[in-house]
Amino acid sequence: MQIGVLALQGAFIEHEQMLAKIGVSSFEIRCKEDLNKPFDGLIIPGGESTVIGKLLFELELFEPIKKMIDDGMPVYGTCAGLLLLADSIKNDNRKYFCSMNIEAVRNAYGRQLGSFYAEESFADICKIPMTFIRAPYISRVGDDVKVLAKVNGKIVAARQGKQLVTAFHPELNDDLTVHNYFIKMINGEI
Ligand code: GLN
Repeated sequence: MQIGVLALQGAFIEHEQMLAKIGVSSFEIRCKEDLNKPFDGLIIPGGESTVIGKLLFELELFEPIKKMIDDGMPVYGTCAGLLLLADSIKNDNRKYFCSMNIEAVRNAYGRQLGSFYAEESFADICKIPMTFIRAPYISRVGDDVKVLAKVNGKIVAARQGKQLVTAFHPELNDDLTVHNYFIKMINGEI
């Protein structure tokens, strides 16, 4: 098992450390050539979706990665990664991979609640720590999308086939539930 972690901007090192803790190896995707290495799943980290999006185009990574996702490459998008995978962003007309049948609201919690912490159930497994940083939430899901977590009535984690998104950053806490879930999802165990 090998995971490619998109390493253009944002919290990618923290994802690599989480994967290492559960014994899964990973490598950083920084340029087109990195896509020639074999991998079983892709993580798109949190950061700034506009910056990551711009760099994806500039480095000519956008088209090949979109094709991989559309062809079924398992993918996990955190926060900005969720925005990059969303079919639409309610308060922003930028479009990226649009591979997941969800609508997201960007910077959805306003200034005062820009960053906050919650503990809620994830995928009916257990309550997990959730760190939100200028996070989106999901305002609409398609029929084929499974809601995995809600905070204050807002959807903050979802899955569609082999695509997983969280509005929060599990890589900034010690809990490995979400990363374990992603690996099991890749393996077809869940
Ligand atoms: N607000 C950021 C964006 O719009 C996402 C924040 C994050 O990834 N922590 O891309």
